[in-house]
Amino acid sequence: MLINSNDFKKIKNSLPLGVGLLAVSKGHAQESIRKLSDYGQFDFGESRLQEAIPKKNNLNDLDQLRWHFVGTLQKNKVRGVIKEFDFIHSVDSLPLLERISRISKEEQKTPNIFLQVKFRDDPKKGGFLKHDLLESWPSIMSLKNINLIGLMTIPPIDLNSYQRKEVFCECRSLADHLGLKDCSMGMSNDWKESIDVGATWIRLGSLLFGER
Ligand SMILES: *Cc1c(COP(=O)(O)O)cnc(C)c1O
Repeated sequence: MLINSNDFKKIKNSLPLGVGLLAVSKGHAQESIRKLSDYGQFDFGESRLQEAIPKKNNLNDLDQLRWHFVGTLQKNKVRGVIKEFDFIHSVDSLPLLERISRISKEEQKTPNIFLQVKFRDDPKKGGFLKHDLLESWPSIMSLKNINLIGLMTIPPIDLNSYQRKEVFCECRSLADHLGLKDCSMGMSNDWKESIDVGATWIRLGSLLFGER
């Protein structure tokens, strides 16, 4: 069930200045997005292009909404995602980033980009390894038509809250090292830990929308 407006405001008001709240609406109906926007929520995250397009079309009277892509991005979806989304949180390889850069130029867009980094071994998740990211950094810096704003990470599911916080710390340090302002990290079960160590975007799904 969708969170009520009081509980939403409690969460929103507890966030430090500079921490953005992304409402991850994947799997939830457009009516819930509309209600959250009545509460004053304007950033929404979707993980599948095919699901996002009809929702966006049905909500296009709400011109304040900003759309964030948070899912695994397949090569053949890059153009569609660039056209439909303002932010991409889940760029997980150099070839994918190069493709985004090339197609963004064609589409005359400059999407806001987070690079997804994998700080622990996790076969279920994609992402740059830290070492590879550092090695690719000069190539990354030379790419046009992308606004590289930060790093994104998702700790493996089996870590405890202390271990998750360690991962978030490593993400913040690497972002600082690279001169990137933003860290997209923390979800419904670990957003407080992520904020403690420097998240600038938390991504909440079930806490806001209820279970899918
Ligand atoms: C679904 C999803 C979320 C939200 O997860 P919850 O645990 O429901 O808050 C956050 N980030 C990504 C990348 C997701 O796919």
